[in-house]
Amino acid sequence: MHARNSFEDAANEPQHEHPNTIVLDFAKRFPDRLQLLVDHWRDAPGQVVDGYAFFLLYCWHGKHRDPATFERWKQPGQERSPFADAPEIRDLVAASLAAIGGQAGWVRMLGRRDYCECGQTSKLENLSVCVDCGRHWCWECSGTRCRGHEVVG
Ligand SMILES: [Zn+2]
Ligand SMILES: [Zn+2]
Repeated sequence: MHARNSFEDAANEPQHEHPNTIVLDFAKRFPDRLQLLVDHWRDAPGQVVDGYAFFLLYCWHGKHRDPATFERWKQPGQERSPFADAPEIRDLVAASLAAIGGQAGWVRMLGRRDYCECGQTSKLENLSVCVDCGRHWCWECSGTRCRGHEVVG
């Protein structure tokens, strides 16, 4: 067998997964996805999340970002995630928000419509999302579904 040339070596380097794919990989536990995001940001700083991945991460971070806010929004028995203080996660969230157009972009995103699992459509601002399984819930359904999972937004 002939030796690999440098072109083949380059092709064998690990490919970076897009951070959207990491956020939305519901087969993995959410803390494991957050660790992958930290690693990814260290390897490829500046690569941001958008769309639904951003919605999920921004809602989650908004709840966990500081102890006082978390106390207000936590579900019974829930603990604040240490990843909320990771500088990589904070930077990823801030850069992603800037990339969608800051607060104006966020407000536009909240005005989009999507489906609850019950079939009702609602603006994103009235939908919650489960960080563990990715299901969306409207206000009427939220809190009654996804027991044992973390629903944010
Ligand atoms: Zn769930
Ligand atoms: Zn519903």
